[in-house]
Amino acid sequence: MNHLTLSTALISRDTPPVKSQWKPLPHTYVHLGGTKSQPNPRRTRSQRARERIQTKDHLMVLARELHEVELADKIDRCHSRLSVLTCGRHIHRVIPNFTCEFRLCPDCGRRRSRKLQNKYLPMMRGFLLRHKVAPVHLVLTQTHRAETRNQSVKRLKDAFTKLQRREFWKKHFKGGTWSLEFTKDKNGLHHTHLHIIGFRRKFFDIELLRDEWLAVTGDSYVLHLKPIQDLAAGLREVVKYVSKPLDIRRFGADDLREFLGLKNMRMFGTFGEFRDFCKDFELSDNDGAAVGELESLARDLVEGCACPHPQCGEPLFDVRMSKNELPQFYDRMDERTKDPMPEFRTGNYVRH
Ligand SMILES: [Zn+2]
Ligand SMILES: [Zn+2]
Repeated sequence: MNHLTLSTALISRDTPPVKSQWKPLPHTYVHLGGTKSQPNPRRTRSQRARERIQTKDHLMVLARELHEVELADKIDRCHSRLSVLTCGRHIHRVIPNFTCEFRLCPDCGRRRSRKLQNKYLPMMRGFLLRHKVAPVHLVLTQTHRAETRNQSVKRLKDAFTKLQRREFWKKHFKGGTWSLEFTKDKNGLHHTHLHIIGFRRKFFDIELLRDEWLAVTGDSYVLHLKPIQDLAAGLREVVKYVSKPLDIRRFGADDLREFLGLKNMRMFGTFGEFRDFCKDFELSDNDGAAVGELESLARDLVEGCACPHPQCGEPLFDVRMSKNELPQFYDRMDERTKDPMPEFRTGNYVRH
C-alpha cells in the first residue's frame, strides 16, 4: 500500500483493541497535504551528500544577500575538508575539519539529530520498561493565518500547553517528546506543526482527541496519530525535523532573515512524566551497550586497525578530501561493495 495515498479515514481512526484478534495498525506515514518536505528515504548516500552541498550553497547565497558575511563564511568552511577512515571498501568515519553549528546547516543538523537519538532512545526504552504505555506518533496542526513564524510557533506551543492541562490528555498520555516542523502553504502562510512521540496509557477514539484539540485552539482539528512499532525508527522520524525543520531549497532571503530572528527557539523538548524521568535517568552500563556499542567501536577505530566489517578485516587508513569529492567517494565505495549500505552517519559505525 502506498503510504502517501492512504485514505485519511484509515489513519484518522485509532482502532480500539478487539479481544484476541487485535493487530496493530500497519506502519503508516502521515501525509499532510501539500506540506511534504521530507526527503525520499530511498536516495543513496551519495545523492544525499550532493543535496547537502546544494542546500549549503543556497544558504550561503541567501546569507550574502542579507550581508551576513560571517555566517556565509562559516557555512562555507563547515565540512569543507574531510578526513575519511576507510578500508577502501567500507567507510567507518567522516571527520570534518570544522562545523558551523548553524541550525539550518544540513551537515550540522544530521549530527545534532544523531546526538538526540543517542540521548533519548535509551531513556525511551527505559520509560517503556517501567511503565505500561505504548508509543504513538502524533502530529498536531493548526489553521494557517497571516502571522510571523514566531507568532505561528507561539500559537501552536501555547495550544499544546493547554492541551496537556486537560483531563483527557492526562488520562491518556504519560508524557513524551515534541519537535517542530515548519512549512508554508501555497499562499505563503506559515504552516507549523508539532511532531509528538506520546506515551499512550490506553486507547481512545481519535475523534475525542480532535475535539480536545479544537477546544484549545478554537479553530484547528487536524491531527494524525499512528502507533510506533519500532521505537528507534519512530524517534528517527521525529528528530529528523530538528535537523531539517523546513525545505531550505524553497527558502528565500526573507525566510532566512525571519529564521535568524528565532535564535533561541527550542526545536525539541520533552513533556509530562517522561520529562521528569529524563531528569533522573542515568545511563546504566547495559543501556549504554544497547545503543552505544557500535558507536564506541567506531570511536575507538584509528588508522591501522582492522576493518570491523564482517568478512573484511583490511587495515583502515585515512583519506583526506574536499566536500565536493565525498559524493563520488560514496559512489565508488558502493560500487565496490555492490551492497548498498544504509545511510552513513558521521561518527557512526555503518550497520549492514
Ligand atoms: Zn572493510
Ligand atoms: Zn554546519
